[in-house]
Amino acid sequence: MAEAVLSLFPEAKFAIGPAIADGFYYDFDLPQPLVEADLNRITAKMREIIKANLPFECRSMTKDEARVYFGELGQTYKLELIDGIPGDEVSIYAQSQFADLCAGPHVRRTGECKHFKLTSLAGAYWRGDSNRPMLQRVYGTVWPTKDELEAFLEIQEEAKKRDHRKLGKELELFFFHPYSPGAIFWQPKGYTIYRELQDLWTSIQRAEGYVEILNPIMYDSELYKLSGHLDHYADAMYKLEQDGRTMCLKPMNCPDTMLFFKQRKHSYRELPLRVSERQALHRNEISGALSGMTRVRLFTQDDAHLFVTPEQIETEIARLLDLVDRLYKLFDLDYKFYLSTRPDSFMGDVALWDQAETALENALKTKALPYKVNLGDGAFYGPKIDIIIQDSLGRKIQCATIQLDFQLPERFELEYITPDNTVARPVVIHRAILGSYERFVGILLEHLAGAMPTWLAPVQVAFLPITDASIDYCQAVAKEWEAAGIRTYVDDRSEKIGYKIRQAEMAKTPCMIVVGKKEVEDGKVNVRTYRDGERGLSDPAAIKAEILQRIAERTLDVNIRKLNIDAFIYSEDVDAEEKDY
Ligand code: ZN
Repeated sequence: MAEAVLSLFPEAKFAIGPAIADGFYYDFDLPQPLVEADLNRITAKMREIIKANLPFECRSMTKDEARVYFGELGQTYKLELIDGIPGDEVSIYAQSQFADLCAGPHVRRTGECKHFKLTSLAGAYWRGDSNRPMLQRVYGTVWPTKDELEAFLEIQEEAKKRDHRKLGKELELFFFHPYSPGAIFWQPKGYTIYRELQDLWTSIQRAEGYVEILNPIMYDSELYKLSGHLDHYADAMYKLEQDGRTMCLKPMNCPDTMLFFKQRKHSYRELPLRVSERQALHRNEISGALSGMTRVRLFTQDDAHLFVTPEQIETEIARLLDLVDRLYKLFDLDYKFYLSTRPDSFMGDVALWDQAETALENALKTKALPYKVNLGDGAFYGPKIDIIIQDSLGRKIQCATIQLDFQLPERFELEYITPDNTVARPVVIHRAILGSYERFVGILLEHLAGAMPTWLAPVQVAFLPITDASIDYCQAVAKEWEAAGIRTYVDDRSEKIGYKIRQAEMAKTPCMIVVGKKEVEDGKVNVRTYRDGERGLSDPAAIKAEILQRIAERTLDVNIRKLNIDAFIYSEDVDAEEKDY
């Protein structure tokens, strides 16, 4: 691509052109901004170079030789790059007359890059520095086979259609407003989904022996000095001055949950004590980082803190792994575990670390779950298990973390009385599985392409009278179903039935009940589902029972279109930093 750009724009200067998770880009300094039509010209030129099937030759130069070489070509950005490369030598890859600085490795010939597409254009500052000139970035993707390229492009297309910001607007779930940037305004339908997810958690946690608390939202900064968060988190906290004190809106639930534990003495008999809190959290994200529901300033986490004895770690972790499995299975989300162990700089006792790491690993092994160990990647205050999910478009996302913490119990001097009547320090397990409800709704919308299973759907059943004559019958049945706990809607507008069905389908309503004169006379209903289409005549009581069962069992009664993801070699790292040079 760089050679093609140079032959079309001889004055082009090359900045940086790395490989990224699913393609590549190159930043160019050009006399004029590129437009879409330029992508076609660059593509055509690239095809010529590919057709020529030129070999790539690698040679190495001393840095001084390379400085002379790129200096003569006027490639000033390369000179800066050379300065940043460690060692005395750099490698250069060349095909025909064109050469570029490249760490390699490389394919052998240009003919191997046949299946490519230039995907988009963007502006980018050299090294992200807004004081430097704006460069033109061209993004592209390249695959070993035509099938993989096409499948990848289809996923990109599908991802655009499923963008949660777009679906949120179309389905009237939520909106954003400049008067509260980075915060979500939940509309009734979206709030229904949000609340259903919270209800799900409430019922699971009750069964799992959790207690739920509700602490304040604002704290004296002394709390965060004690917890240690003020050192790392000060910029992310919203602060208010009051009576000469600095009050902070809480950015996480951990420190104030410690206050709950410390409120009174505890016996070993009370452990494990599993405490969850569902309170609004605020984080002062910079406005440039805000993005739909993925990055927000106000959110609620499905987190909990477990106060345990060191001996209880393994059982509790095993239970949490079960929970992860149960929750993600509800949505058919694939997942993988990553165990992060003791880093070089750590706090606490080595023996406790070893015990905890063994407990985490044992729990994973006992469950026969595949996992990867990231040696030395744990936080300084404890080892952790991260869970990475993969959605139906093959994208890897981190939601869940199970984090051990030796530090907070120390800082808050938490204690419990042991069976020997001595005093001991508990270990804290932080865990969140969905992550934040806000972000998880966004993930679900994209994973399910907006079509929620019956239990989560804002409207579960739409009654569609064919003529005004069947409105009363629809309303009577709907009223009865509502009373039984089904969310219904009666479309009593004087519109054609085809139009009503289309609208209900566009709203992705799981079940549609079509009623005409005949159905009223026979006391039947005509059923259509979003998933299967026309189902035919049924007895209303039987359909009602079926829907209630789906709700109660939280059945995943949707078709999930998983796109060919096996063909993809996505990078292992989730938020892989774009690789330099
Ligand atoms: Zn926590």
